[in-house]
Amino acid sequence: MYSILKSRMLQGCRTQPFPASPESLPDRFRGLPALTPGLCSRDCRLCIRHCPTAAISRLASEHRIQIDMGRCIFCGECAAVCPAGTIAFTRDYRLSCRTRSGLLVGQKEKPLLEPLTGEKRRLFGRSLKLRQVSAGGCNGCEVDVNVLNTLAFDLGRFGIQMVASPRHADGLLVTGPVTANMYSALLKTWEATPSPKLVIAVGSCAISGGLFRDFEQVKNGVEGILPVDLYVPGCPPNPWTILEGLVRLIGKEQG
Ligand code: SF4
Repeated sequence: MYSILKSRMLQGCRTQPFPASPESLPDRFRGLPALTPGLCSRDCRLCIRHCPTAAISRLASEHRIQIDMGRCIFCGECAAVCPAGTIAFTRDYRLSCRTRSGLLVGQKEKPLLEPLTGEKRRLFGRSLKLRQVSAGGCNGCEVDVNVLNTLAFDLGRFGIQMVASPRHADGLLVTGPVTANMYSALLKTWEATPSPKLVIAVGSCAISGGLFRDFEQVKNGVEGILPVDLYVPGCPPNPWTILEGLVRLIGKEQG
């Protein structure tokens, strides 16, 4: 017993401070895309042709592109093939948005997530219980959600907790492209959750279908099925990205 206590004292606090420092992110981390205006040439569509998820579109009548983070899997292929160096990926992990249109990244700076207001802020700002639904996910997003419960991230310190039953939940955290097999299960879980309730879409699959978009077995994510309160892009999103979105949503993160 003494040796256990001594070991714990020597280890100290293992919970990482929040917000995350750049050192907490892996070397290969790709965060918020940064597009440099004026570098695209009229006929070059290399990035659009190489993108596996059709996340890049050309803005009408301009030599400019935009990236839809709701579809992007952050593979980096577009940046690698761009001859002009228009596309780069920063180490900014704060990617979450309240609206689908907020995930479209062009030349304008992306604003930080707006927290809940009104009744939802009053109800969920100090205690938020979520039921996680894997709607046909590959387990990538699920793992990065689960890791938030470890002592390194300690989700509970912000008053946020995953619960086993939708009847005990304030909302659903959905991962996966919503396969046909999981469609009715997702709807039943939603109906079993008491109102008012939140929906949080984590990962490009849950937001848009991701790599599986337009396959006949998937519903292209939760959009159009349930009202989404928070979009967390990535494939899978880094745990810091998920944590930042959740914490900022309930107004616990200042600055
Ligand atoms: S990083 Fe995103 S936008 Fe670029 S090619 Fe990959 S999926 Fe497409």
